[in-house]
Amino acid sequence: MANHLAIDVLDTEEAKMARSLARQFVENEILPVRQQIDDDKDHSKVIEPLFRKIMIELGMGRIMAADQPMSLTNQMGFLEELSRGDSGIAVAMACTGWCLFPIRYEPYKRPDLIEELAGVFPEDEVAFGCFAMTEPEGGCDIENPRMEGRKIHTTARLDGEEWVINGAKQWPTNSGVSHLYLTVCTTDPNLGNEGIALIYVPYPIEGVSFGRFENKVGMQADRNCSVFYDNVRVPKRYRAAGPGDDAKLLHQNLVLGSIASASMSVGTAQNIFEIVTDYATTRVAGGKPIKEHSVIACHLADMVTGIETARTYALSVSYMWDRPETYGPRWSAEMLAKSRIAKTYAADISVMVANRAMEMMGSYGYTREGDVEKHWRDNKMMQQWLGGSHVARLDIARHFCNLETL
Ligand SMILES: Cc1cc2nc3c(=O)[nH]c(=O)nc-3n(C[C@H](O)[C@H](O)[C@H](O)COP(=O)(O)OP(=O)(O)OC[C@H]3O[C@@H](n4cnc5c(N)ncnc54)[C@H](O)[C@@H]3O)c2cc1C
Repeated sequence: MANHLAIDVLDTEEAKMARSLARQFVENEILPVRQQIDDDKDHSKVIEPLFRKIMIELGMGRIMAADQPMSLTNQMGFLEELSRGDSGIAVAMACTGWCLFPIRYEPYKRPDLIEELAGVFPEDEVAFGCFAMTEPEGGCDIENPRMEGRKIHTTARLDGEEWVINGAKQWPTNSGVSHLYLTVCTTDPNLGNEGIALIYVPYPIEGVSFGRFENKVGMQADRNCSVFYDNVRVPKRYRAAGPGDDAKLLHQNLVLGSIASASMSVGTAQNIFEIVTDYATTRVAGGKPIKEHSVIACHLADMVTGIETARTYALSVSYMWDRPETYGPRWSAEMLAKSRIAKTYAADISVMVANRAMEMMGSYGYTREGDVEKHWRDNKMMQQWLGGSHVARLDIARHFCNLETL
């Protein structure tokens, strides 16, 4: 069945190439082993070979670390397709790019640093990056623009030509396995936004250590643990921009993460919809395929309505990201609110789609073989990360309703 998107910009060769590369990888490599992914606790049997294939053999590692990435709209097409197969693999890939994004775009582009840091991503190794923001004391307060960085506990002190970093981060994607940690610090919490400092920490380095990997209900391909910084020293030039500007880059990265999260939710919801439509076509009850019962048909219609709407909105915000000359700075309150709409709506839709699909598939839906329960477990986290659905809704209401006290 054809499914065209009514946005001309997606009809380019690059857009088609990005989607088709991810789709082929999902069909040929991920789907045949997908049910084994969550059992591969040490990553050696299934997960590591999948990363080797996509990052080294297909060259996506190099593309992610490149100075000139594809348009965000096309990257989101790639990410959506990859999440259709496995959102744990997708988030590990996406966060590698996420940690480099602050220094990739004007007016804060840093060709010197991009070139220097490219060295920590060897072409023949699976090499991840990490955007380390959340702390043991909490993630939401750091993401909440109204807190202006006053709740960041990880400190950066300038000592001559070096930053000295102390503190701890918790949960960031690819923690414990990354070659590079973009660490959200404060030079002084009392300075508010002026104190926020985004500092690159290559690993291995003296003073960085890790806790145990968290035992999660899903997203096994993504590693998460605590990261401890004990007098970690990096060159002064490893700070992304400077006082005030790093706060903008933090907000810009929240916009980016929210758009990416939306695309990932759309990808998983799309796959669930395909699985449940197949099931509803072949499963007979009451003398006909269950999709021919109006109650089931209406559920399917709700699902596809949500998916189509979520996809189109996420792509429209990516389109805005790609055109700051028309839509304004990528860190604006408007961009943050719109990216949060994309994330919140897509996450809620994907959770709804997973819940209804499980119900439609009866007991089979509750088995590993049914293939929906994996997305059901993974999708839930997409609602909860990046400040969760509450903080995201506050960002939306602040911009559109001019809140004064929240
Ligand atoms: C698989 C996975 C991947 C992750 N990836 C990353 C990553 O790449 N980088 C990173 O830095 N972190 C990452 N995280 C961490 C995640 O983003 C945070 O856990 C999340 O933002 C919530 O922070 P918290 O758990 O500390 O909750 P808290 O901040 O303690 O919040 C707890 C609850 O209070 C609510 N709440 C908080 N503040 C408010 C408020 N002002 N108003 C109303 N309600 C509020 C929240 O919605 C939430 O329900 C990841 C986590 C997981 C599990």
